[in-house]
Amino acid sequence: SEQQEWDRVDDYLSDMLVQSDPALDLALRSSAEAGLPAINVSPNQGKLLHLLARMSGARHILEVGTLGGYSTIWLARALAPGGRLVSLEKIHHHAQIARNNIHSAELDDMVDIVVDDALASLDRLIADGVEPFDFIFLDADKENNAAYLERALRLSRPGTVIVGDNVVRKGRITHEGNTDPDVLGVRKFLTLMADSPELDSTAVQTVGSKGWDGFSLSIVSDRT
Ligand code: SAM
Repeated sequence: SEQQEWDRVDDYLSDMLVQSDPALDLALRSSAEAGLPAINVSPNQGKLLHLLARMSGARHILEVGTLGGYSTIWLARALAPGGRLVSLEKIHHHAQIARNNIHSAELDDMVDIVVDDALASLDRLIADGVEPFDFIFLDADKENNAAYLERALRLSRPGTVIVGDNVVRKGRITHEGNTDPDVLGVRKFLTLMADSPELDSTAVQTVGSKGWDGFSLSIVSDRT
């Protein structure tokens, strides 16, 4: 099947280019053992996030949607010296598994996991006037993605990079009658992105071990 072909190529590319790593392997294994859903990014996607964050020279990273901390580890390892990552997760059990995994990866000093509804956490970060983030990864419930993007913009500066995951959803984003809240959420997210003059964006379809999906990529420009 197509999926088997995509899996085979993802395995081939990951084996070739994405070094196996005990802490990342453990994060996946312990998440599975704890019964977390396997909705983390794939290894080659994790490395893509890592490379994008490094390319942007990020010292302050925000992640919305921690799960077991797999993408968190990839991103935290991209931080420039002295950098920090804040990851938002609403489910205590997920956050606990993630904290263990981040500890095993020896990244505790750089990573803060905040347990609450992401909207509440984002509003708190805004109210606290935190230093703007250099890199933001949106990967929680897609229903609220537009609200997350709106907050992300208020936590950004010109040059901030924003990545949104799962924006294609097996092509369902173009199915007109679709009423799936995640599909509607992604459309609203992409519309806000298109309508935000301070954002320069694209989105790319992907196939691979995660099926047919895609991600959006934006940079915040000068808001004049
Ligand atoms: N970024 C992770 C990775 O690649 O390893 C995967 C994140 S998973 C797709 C989405 C996570 O967002 C889940 O752990 C879920 O509990 C969390 N989540 C869902 N709705 C949320 C909300 N309203 N606030 C905060 N977290 C939420």
